[in-house]
Amino acid sequence: MRSANPARHVSLPFPRAPRYGPEDQAAVRDLLHAGRLSDTSRGPAIAALEDAFADLTNTVYALSFASGTASLHGALRGVGAHPDAGVVTSPLTWISAILVAFHAGSFPVFADVEPGGVNLNPATIATAGQASAVLVTHTFGIPARMDALTAVTGVPIVEDCSHAHGARYASRPVGSWGAAGCFSLMERKPVSGGEGGVLTTNSRTVYERALTLGHHPHRLAAELTDPALRPLTSTGLGYKTRMPTVAAAIASVQLRRLADRMAASETNFARLLDVLHAHAAPITTPLVAAGSTRGWYGTPLIITEPVPNPAALFAACTAAGVPVRPLYEDWLSSPLLQDPALLHEAFPHVRHTGWRPPDPHALPNYQVARRQTLLLKVPDVPAADYMHQVGDTLATVLTQAIR
Ligand SMILES: *Cc1c(COP(=O)(O)O)cnc(C)c1O
Repeated sequence: MRSANPARHVSLPFPRAPRYGPEDQAAVRDLLHAGRLSDTSRGPAIAALEDAFADLTNTVYALSFASGTASLHGALRGVGAHPDAGVVTSPLTWISAILVAFHAGSFPVFADVEPGGVNLNPATIATAGQASAVLVTHTFGIPARMDALTAVTGVPIVEDCSHAHGARYASRPVGSWGAAGCFSLMERKPVSGGEGGVLTTNSRTVYERALTLGHHPHRLAAELTDPALRPLTSTGLGYKTRMPTVAAAIASVQLRRLADRMAASETNFARLLDVLHAHAAPITTPLVAAGSTRGWYGTPLIITEPVPNPAALFAACTAAGVPVRPLYEDWLSSPLLQDPALLHEAFPHVRHTGWRPPDPHALPNYQVARRQTLLLKVPDVPAADYMHQVGDTLATVLTQAIR
């Protein structure tokens, strides 16, 4: 398969289908026609999306939110995160999955990722200190080792599934392993509602506690059964985190295409790995455990030779047309997390917690992952020729960059 003359540049355009089509447009038109863009109760558009997510994850309950961040907030409230013990998380995630611990009245406690991987390392959780919850992201679509994580912690686990819609760990859907699962429906995520979020859970308590965060009293009146929560019926918590009906209607349509898009991504990625293998490129991928299915959001490739200059490698990939996306910033060294004055001003309760600014060098696997990981955008429509070009080009770029 090795080409005689490997490509130096990806000349084909990135293969993609229009993000929204006639079905999305019809769904939005129907809501406009009905004059029903905001539902205070669990109306038909909201109910359809929630039911579809409960089906996708095989959970009893699904609850819609205005954003993935709000669903994480609801989940941490749902599981009872509190100021006396932190929320264990890895720094290799979107910033809102870290800062939400403060919004939920607690604080983040950082633990390392697995060696050669991108997800929270079960072995580091035990040493992270006292915790009120663990928040684990299925980072870049790679399902986290939920059985091992569950075995080492006695506190509730919240899964952030915002990169992993439709993924499974050991045959069981992500979002059904922990006390709660959270999915962002922001436009660039694997299922889009434009914006939005969904919480999944098998726990009535978690569901009802999350409901009180920012859903309308009409819905609280219809659904709250817990005697400890019923007194909140008329007020809720006076906050607003519910999903607009338009977002729910679009996400329901998008969800129906998820399986086809996942299958195309899988085929495309296998093609790429074949080409890279034929070039003997120094690349591997994080392990996807047996019986598991990955999700698709910034697919990680791990470079197996030391990368002398990660920024230069990224620039060389981009210049050659390899569809890479930047890794997250190093949140650990951000002003907000390093400067207590800034943090206390925003979250006054933190003064009375065990929060300490993190030491970015205390997490060696995370630092290695930051240097050695390339995030590839894999098309979700058939794209054999394109993947072949990307594989040839990437192999060439790598030989030059790590020589
Ligand atoms: C996008 C994202 C979020 C936040 O979701 P929003 O819908 O943008 O609020 C949380 N966690 C992860 C891992 C994400 O990628």
